[in-house]
This record gives sequence, structure tokens and C-alpha cells, in this order.
Amino acid sequence: MRMETVKSDRQRPEWVPEGVAEGFTTHVMDGIEGGHDGLPGMPPPSRVPARIIKRRQLSLDEYISGVLSGDRTILSRAITLVESNAPAHMADAQQMVQELLPYTGRSIRVGITGVPGAGKSTLIEALGNFLCDHGHKTAVLAVDPSSTLTRGSILGDKTRMEKLSSRADAFIRPSPSGGVLGGVARKSRETMLVCEAAGYDVILVETVGVGQSEVTVRSMVDFFLLVLIAGAGDELQGIKKGIMELCDTVLINKADGDNRLRAQAARMEFVRILHYLQPATEGWNTQALACSSTTGEGIPQLWEVIQDFVTCTRSSGMFQQRRTLQSMEWVGSMVEEYLRTSFYNHPSIKKALPGIKRGVMSGQYSPTKAADLLVREYENGQKAMTENEP
Ligand code: GDP
Repeated sequence: MRMETVKSDRQRPEWVPEGVAEGFTTHVMDGIEGGHDGLPGMPPPSRVPARIIKRRQLSLDEYISGVLSGDRTILSRAITLVESNAPAHMADAQQMVQELLPYTGRSIRVGITGVPGAGKSTLIEALGNFLCDHGHKTAVLAVDPSSTLTRGSILGDKTRMEKLSSRADAFIRPSPSGGVLGGVARKSRETMLVCEAAGYDVILVETVGVGQSEVTVRSMVDFFLLVLIAGAGDELQGIKKGIMELCDTVLINKADGDNRLRAQAARMEFVRILHYLQPATEGWNTQALACSSTTGEGIPQLWEVIQDFVTCTRSSGMFQQRRTLQSMEWVGSMVEEYLRTSFYNHPSIKKALPGIKRGVMSGQYSPTKAADLLVREYENGQKAMTENEP
């Protein structure tokens, strides 16, 4: 296995997200058969050879037993199923996720954000390798709502994760191209569950921090990490308002060479600033750390802090409380997504919308009047459809 630039369809791995460009680079999963690590309650490894699995459609049972046995070829295909927008696939994906649910939730979910160039992927390579060296199975996912435009930039061209991506105990998956953040978020949440069912006990979720994506990633992880670099003078440069209140640890990366002292000074400055801010997690004081992702210095300390966080929040009940809350928010956001889609795809709305839009632009309708007209159109359309039903 290796990182590979996809130049033609012949080389294209079958699970590349829809609509990505030719230059899309990713981790080509040739597949490791089996990989079952003896987790209690897990069924035996899949017996279907990878060659065959690649070619034909899999049954739901094959998806489920393959994922539970840690078969990476099937795991990749299961994620492709979750990412598909085809209605037939969505029903299968839902059933699969439902059946995998009892095997999920046993990981530590870590979100990682920071400006481009802060060193997120280098950090993930360092932390991921450290975790694998210490017996963990690490999955790396990305949430990048801009990926349709930037063509899967994060985790897409990351030859720097070469070592991690070639490890049997690591799994790297680029962002799904879902268009809107809601779509990307749903797919990533389900991908996270599928990875947990496959035995990955640490899930690292990287985001670029475009628009609301940090808030979205915060809503799917236990621990949220903000990666920064010591800037020239203004340490707060490039930090979006409010992001500090979302994170559980600020990590000053690149604390090496000439930059080491500056990074340490920045860390102290953050310790001071954090003192005045509301912590993201009740009962946990947001930490400020420094590390070097290239030398590995500070990586064990970062993992220690993450473990302390888990111990502290588990004993206070916050860990489970947050997960329950996140699940309920997830339900709410999916209902909203469903309603929005069904509203705008309704034939009556499709017909009425252009005229109402023109009315708003010409000043004929106020926005409130326009919204009211649309909702009535929708309700009348629904009523007509029900009446026409046999
Ligand atoms: P990302 O855009 O946040 O994913 O950042 P990258 O991981 O791609 O890193 C951006 C650049 O910073 C690359 O040239 C890395 O080699 C470099 N870099 C990342 N971490 C460190 C570090 O700890 N020390 C030094 N000196 N350079 C680093």
C-alpha cells in the first residue's frame, strides 16, 4: 500500500468520493484480508477474498461481517456506501449502520483544527504513528465542506502521512464530497461509527476550519484540539473569534530549532489568555501545550493530556453527557436536512419558487410574505398529493 496520485480511471481506487478531480491523491486500499484483532464479541474474520470483494456487489451481511472483522477492503467499501447519495444505497447504508451500532462508541474521538500550514497533517502523522506504536488502531477522517471546490485538498495530497498510511493499524479516509456541510457531516459521523465498529479505538477528525466546519467537528468529537504556530508578534493572528472557547487544548506546533523559544513564550501567553475564557468542557481547564510534529517532541505529552481529559470527563459524567447531547443534535440536524431537501424538491415549490423570487427582487413581496407563500404552496401541494393517493 502507498500514497498514489490517481491519473486515470484504471488506477482510480473504487472508493474515491464522487466528483473528485484526476489529481486526487489518496491512500489506495489494496486490502488486507482478515485483520481481526480478537475483540470480544466480534465475529470471525471475513472469508471472502479481497479480489472477489472488489468486483461484485456485497450483501448487507458481507458488509457487516467484513467491517466487524476489520477487513479494510470491506471497510472502504462500507464507507463508500455511507457516502453515496443514491437513494438505494442510502437505505442499505442506514441498515448497515443500524446493525453496526452495538459495536460503536468505544473510541476516543479527537477533532483537530488550525489554519492551513499550522502542521495538522504532520501532527496527525506523528500522533497517529505514536498511537499505533502503543497498540492503538487509529482512523483519520477529514471534514472539508469545500472539498467539492478544492477537490479533496485535506488528506488529499498528503504524502507527508506516508508512513501512517502504510500501516496496517491505521486507516486514512479523505473528506467525502458532500457539497454542503450538512451532507459532509452526516457522512463523516457515520464513517466514524463504521470505523469504530471495525475496531479503531482512536478517531482523529481533521478540519480546515472553513465556515462552520469547526463547530460541526466539535459537535462530533469528545476532545477538540486547536493547532497554532507562534506568529511574529501577534499570537492571535488568524484565530477566528470563538474558536478558543470550542477547544479543549491549544497546541503550539513547530516548537523546534529557532522557533522553540518563541513557541514556549506563545504557550505561556495562551495559559494566561485561557485563564480568562470559558472552558469548552465543564470541569476541564483548557490546556496550552507546545510540540514539534517533525521531531516528535511533546507528542507523548499531548496524548497524556487527551487521556487525562477522558479520565476527568468520564468520572464527572461529562463524557457520556456530551455524547448523548451530540446524538440528539445529530437527530435534529438530520431532520432539518431531510425537511429542507423535501421542501425544495417538492414539485409545487420547484414551480412556484422562480416567480416568488422575482417578486422579492422587484419589491412586490416582503421576505416574510414570500416565505408564507412558499409554505402555503408546500402545504397545498402535500394535501393534493395525499388526496390523489389511491
Ligand atoms: P496543514 O496545512 O495544517 O496540514 O500543515 P502541514 O502538516 O501540511 O505542514 C505545513 C508545513 O509545516 C510543512 O512544510 C511541514 O513540514 C511543516 N511543519 C509541520 N509541523 C512542523 C513542526 O513541528 N516543525 C517544523 N519545523 N515544521 C513543521
